[in-house]
Amino acid sequence: MKAWRFYGFKDLRLDDIPVPACGAGHVLVEPLCVQPSVTEAQLAMGIPTLAYDRVKHRLDTEAPIQLFGHEFCARIVEIGSGVTGYNLGDRVAARAKLPCGDCPLCRSERSDLCRKGPVIGFDQPGCFSEIALLPEIALVKVPDSISDSEAACLQSLSDSVAAVETAQIQIGDTVVIYGQGSMGLECLQIARLSGAGMVITIDVREEACEVSRELGADNALNANTCDVVETIRELTGSIGADVVFECAGGSPKQGLSGHSTLLLAINSVRSGGKIVGVSWFGQPIELPIDILRERSLRYVFPDISTRAHLAHTVRLVASGRVRLQPTIRHILQGIDAVPQAFEITANKGKYQAINPAQVMMRS
Ligand SMILES: [Zn+2]
Repeated sequence: MKAWRFYGFKDLRLDDIPVPACGAGHVLVEPLCVQPSVTEAQLAMGIPTLAYDRVKHRLDTEAPIQLFGHEFCARIVEIGSGVTGYNLGDRVAARAKLPCGDCPLCRSERSDLCRKGPVIGFDQPGCFSEIALLPEIALVKVPDSISDSEAACLQSLSDSVAAVETAQIQIGDTVVIYGQGSMGLECLQIARLSGAGMVITIDVREEACEVSRELGADNALNANTCDVVETIRELTGSIGADVVFECAGGSPKQGLSGHSTLLLAINSVRSGGKIVGVSWFGQPIELPIDILRERSLRYVFPDISTRAHLAHTVRLVASGRVRLQPTIRHILQGIDAVPQAFEITANKGKYQAINPAQVMMRS
């Protein structure tokens, strides 16, 4: 089969390798639609972010290796012994984090909270190949009402569901969301479903602000054309928002805000309010920590997303309560297009992309 393998950062090649054997508790799938996550695209380019050291170590010691490809929709083509929940032809997506099976959490049936197990695409091959081997325990069935393209977004969307749950929004809360990339737009829609009152979103790209309005933002502010903190104060009777999601931070080289949006978030939230840190900054940052102390601010980070979050995510999309289609701008055809998808996803600003670029693998 053909599979993309990494020989180093920025060096991926389409190799011919043997089809993996389908072991017990596993299925073989043919990937239909796969997208690199933003983290994967940055790592592919050698940019420091989440899991950089782990990936670098694997490249230094094991290359060439299959890497990435945990955001996908695939069809089951072979079923291993002991698999009971799936049939040939089922379309599936997956939760990337697998339980280790051995720690106290796993042994007490709380394996969803395990952080010791392997991660699909990082510790074992994902779906940038013609055939992939996946454990049944990771899978979720994709109903007919969800397209291949939408299904490839489910794993990322379930992280946004976990992030909004972490915020514990109260009915009527004013919510501000910095960044209207895919996670910002997802948090917008899920916050509205979770009781948010007024939702104010911020981006520097007019096209992202337009999509944000289409998906339900009451006020989508372009930070290039207004003073956002001043405007948020005006809109909230000068006290600030109850909950602020920070989804814009990261390397300015990739069109992200550095940590300037975190500083804006601190100035946008009411005293005693919550900031939910969704971004990965890729390096240490400096914070005016006494201001958080003085104003009793809660700076919290999203809980790990579980199989229950993924199952709920499927319901949200299947029922049309969360819309993904307006965020998908780049769909590429054929396995050869995978490097182009990494290039677009690592540089979303340059390509006016909102969601990662997707690859229809079998065209
Ligand atoms: Zn475990």
